[in-house]
Amino acid sequence: MTRRTKIVATIGPATESPEAIEKLITAGVDFFRFNLKHNSLEWHKKAIELIERCCQKRNKKLGIIADIQGPELRVETKDVEGLMVEEGETIYLAKEFINDKTLVINPKEVFEQLAKGWEAYIDNGNLHLTFEGRQGEAIVAKAGSRYLIKNRKAINVPGIGFDLPLFTQRDLEALNRLKELNVDYLALSFVRSKDDILELKKIIKEKGVEAGVMAKIENGSAIANLKEIVDESDAVMIARGDLGVEVPIRQLAFWQKLIIQLCRQKNTPVLVATQMLISMVNNSHPTRAEATDVANAVYDASDALMLSEETAVGNYPVRAVEEMDKICRFVEEYGKVNDIKDELEDAAEVLCDAACRIIKEAKFPVKAVLVFTQSGKTARIMARHRLGIPVIAITDKMRTYRQLNLSYGVIPYYKQFGKTEFRKDDPIFEEIKALGVVMEGDDVVAIHGNNWLSSGSTSDLSVIRF
Ligand code: PEP
Repeated sequence: MTRRTKIVATIGPATESPEAIEKLITAGVDFFRFNLKHNSLEWHKKAIELIERCCQKRNKKLGIIADIQGPELRVETKDVEGLMVEEGETIYLAKEFINDKTLVINPKEVFEQLAKGWEAYIDNGNLHLTFEGRQGEAIVAKAGSRYLIKNRKAINVPGIGFDLPLFTQRDLEALNRLKELNVDYLALSFVRSKDDILELKKIIKEKGVEAGVMAKIENGSAIANLKEIVDESDAVMIARGDLGVEVPIRQLAFWQKLIIQLCRQKNTPVLVATQMLISMVNNSHPTRAEATDVANAVYDASDALMLSEETAVGNYPVRAVEEMDKICRFVEEYGKVNDIKDELEDAAEVLCDAACRIIKEAKFPVKAVLVFTQSGKTARIMARHRLGIPVIAITDKMRTYRQLNLSYGVIPYYKQFGKTEFRKDDPIFEEIKALGVVMEGDDVVAIHGNNWLSSGSTSDLSVIRF
C-alpha cells in the first residue's frame, strides 16, 4: 500500500552527498526542503541539481521547497562557532559587536523596537533571555540557562510586532535568481497577512517562474489573519518551532488542528513542521512522545509532515524518514482520519464529493480515483477527503506534477495529450496499470471533462473497469 501522508526532508550538511540523497529517496521522501537562511545560494543550487540528478536516475520527479527568511529576526555571533553562555550570565544585544559577549541583531533597523521588549527567546525557545536595561547602544540581557548560541539563530520577542521589511538582502538575492533554482514552492517565513503572500506572488510572476507560495504560520499576526492567509496561499506550513515561542506553547495543538481543518476546507496542502522526531538528531529511535506526535498529525489529517534538523544535521537522517514512514503507514491502515465538513463551491467539488459517496457506499470496491488536471486543483479537492485509496492525478504540466507530491494520497502521473475526446478505452489506462496501483478487473472512479486536459472543463464522473 502506498503511504498517503507525504514526507518532507530538509537538506543540510548531513544529507548533501549523492549517497545520502539516494537513501532518503529510497526511504520514502516525497519533497525536499532547502532553508535558504543557511548556506550560500551556490550551495543550494548545487544541492537542488544533485537531487534532480538522483531523481532522474530513478525516474522520479520529486518536489522542492525553498524556504526564505522573510521578516524574521536573527542574531549573529562574533565567533562563527557561536557564543557559549552560562546560566545567569550577562550578554549584550546590539547593532555592532561591542565585546565577545555581544549578539548582533539582524536586521539592525529594529534595534529600538527590540529595546521595548522585556524578554526574548533564541533558537525556537531553547534559550530564554531576560532584558535588564540599556547600556549605551546595547540591551543588557541575562541568560536563563547554559547554551551554545549558534550563528544566525532566530530570536523571538513575544508581543512586539516588528516593523520589518518583507525580504532580507539574502531573500532578494534568491528571488533574483529564482529561474536558476527549479523550486515548486517558496515558503515565506513570518507571514503577517495576505499582503505578504500577494507581494511574493507578484515577484514570482514578474520573474516568470511557476513556484507556488507556501505560508509559514509562525507568529501572532499570522494567527490573527489566518483565514485570509490560507485563502491566498498555495500551501501552508505549520512552523511549530517559532509558533511555539510566539504564542503560548500550550496553544500549539489547538492551532495545529484548526489550521489543518481550514486548509482542508480550501483544498490547500498543509504540512506540520518541526521537532517531530527531534531526539533522532542524536538517537537512533524516537521517544514515545515523538512517535505519538507524528501519529497524531496523521490523525489530524495533515497532507505532509516535515523533518528539519533530523535530516539536515542529524546523525540518523535516513532512520528518521523510515520511522516517520512506518508510523504514517500504521495509522493510515488502522486509524481513522478525521472527517471534513464540506461546502461545495463548484462543479469539481461536487464531482469529488459524489466520487466519495460512490467509494464509500458502492457494494463493489473502488481501488483508486483518477483525476485529469492541469492546475492540480481537482486532485487537491479529491485529496481533502483524505480517502483510504490513492488519487492518481494525470497532468501534462510538470510543475503541477511536482507540486502534487505534497498532497495527501495523490500519485501524480505526467502525460502530454493532444486535446482529443475523453475515451474509456484510451491507451492511458494501460499506462496507469504499470504504476502497480490498479490491476486488470479493478474498478476506479474517474473525474474528467469531455476532452483531455481542457483547463476548467471538469464536468463528468465515470466508473471505469480496468
Ligand atoms: C519553524 O519555525 O518551525 C520553521 C520550520 O522555521 P525555521 O526552520 O525557518 O525556523
